[in-house]
Amino acid sequence: MKTEFSIAQLANPDIAEADKILRACVHCGFCTATCPTYVLLGDELDSPRGRIYLIKEMLEKNRPPTREVVKHIDRCLSCLACMTTCPSGVNYMHLVDQARVRIEKEYTRPLSERVLRKALAWVLPRPGLFRAAMILARFTRPLSTLLPAAKTESPTPTLLRRLNAMLALAPRSLQPPGASAGRVFAAQGEKRGRVALLQGCAQQVLAPRINQAAINLLTRHGIEVVLVKDEQCCGALTHHLGDDEDALGRARANITVWLKEAEQNGLDAILVTTSGCGTVIKDYGYMLREDRDFAAAAAKISALAMDISEYVVRISLQPAQQPRDIVVAYHSACSLQHGQQPRDIVVAYHSACSLQHGQKITQAPKELLSKNGFVVKDVPESHLCCGSAGTYNILQPDIANQLRDRKVANIAMVTPDMIAAGNIGCMVQIASGTSVPVVHTIELLDWATGGPKPGIN
Ligand code: SF4
Ligand code: SF4
Repeated sequence: MKTEFSIAQLANPDIAEADKILRACVHCGFCTATCPTYVLLGDELDSPRGRIYLIKEMLEKNRPPTREVVKHIDRCLSCLACMTTCPSGVNYMHLVDQARVRIEKEYTRPLSERVLRKALAWVLPRPGLFRAAMILARFTRPLSTLLPAAKTESPTPTLLRRLNAMLALAPRSLQPPGASAGRVFAAQGEKRGRVALLQGCAQQVLAPRINQAAINLLTRHGIEVVLVKDEQCCGALTHHLGDDEDALGRARANITVWLKEAEQNGLDAILVTTSGCGTVIKDYGYMLREDRDFAAAAAKISALAMDISEYVVRISLQPAQQPRDIVVAYHSACSLQHGQQPRDIVVAYHSACSLQHGQKITQAPKELLSKNGFVVKDVPESHLCCGSAGTYNILQPDIANQLRDRKVANIAMVTPDMIAAGNIGCMVQIASGTSVPVVHTIELLDWATGGPKPGIN
């Protein structure tokens, strides 16, 4: 794509980067076929190519973001399916991230939207506040019947539809908080490694059982696990809302404490059980590339970050239990129909966008599940997002619900006993549309290698 940035514009490193990305695009349109919003809405401006044009115009002409530009950028899920499809290697992620920051700085949203976005950015990264909000949501959930439901015919959300979506996603019960920051879990038997485990923010409130399963499995296999003190939310939530000041502040704080831990006690990896967070931590090096004080440290931390499945695939797991043993345990846990013949558990593997498109991890979770006794089924249209996408299912509930329903219908086609995923956002989103149990991949692996049955909410 031809660009016409001036020399003065190109002196700005962000614009220089955008120029490089835009020039890589040959406007072939292959990406439109796999873009969820284009598939649903059929509007070129809701496709990657359309959005690339809108961003180019905004940056090149140095125009303030218009209502139209904001509408189409807001509808982008940042699922990155377009990056997987693009034959020219266009880095759409860095381009749309830049557009979101510009919108956040230069566009004035309606007051109700500003308040909602600020509230999400304030509450979600703070586990204490988020837990309090979830308890409140449980009591106010009955009010959701008074609020307007999502619409399919006009995907322009109102504040009330967004509030309704928020209530619908709140869990009916909460587990007690998991292990606290600063704890070190000793390796059992001969020590084979030492890792930090990201504690996360929303996940530690919604499903502390996930990190507990990771700790169980890792320590049982000789890996010492540390929950680093003073670690914060990774910044993914505010990064996707365009609030880079907050996101970069959190990145710097995490880099400082992780690097200290790595230098003082040694770390083989920083493991992440929420792939949305993993994608952003792996991008810290890029996000802080112009920060003289942090660029080198950020690159080191990004290199240390790994999805839990990437790490577990490298250690040899204890032999799996016999499938029949697992089935018997599963029957008692999940009350499959009485009298049903024992058989292998069929797991529909939901490939989170942040894992398959953001981190290009597609095989490791499935291989691990198969090797450990589960029958793994791919979900049709697995490249399409489930509609979760951070805060997207709250801010764009109409599109998010359509994508969830499509995902759930595709999952139903493989008639699974369980659904496995590697991202809490997807788990909550999919669980809101199906009665099939949704668990994290690591919970199944922990169970299959001697840990407890997954505690499904
Ligand atoms: S597939 Fe890549 S090169 Fe083709 S239009 Fe989309 S972003 Fe541009
Ligand atoms: S990130 Fe996803 S929603 Fe956004 S343009 Fe790319 S494919 Fe479409």
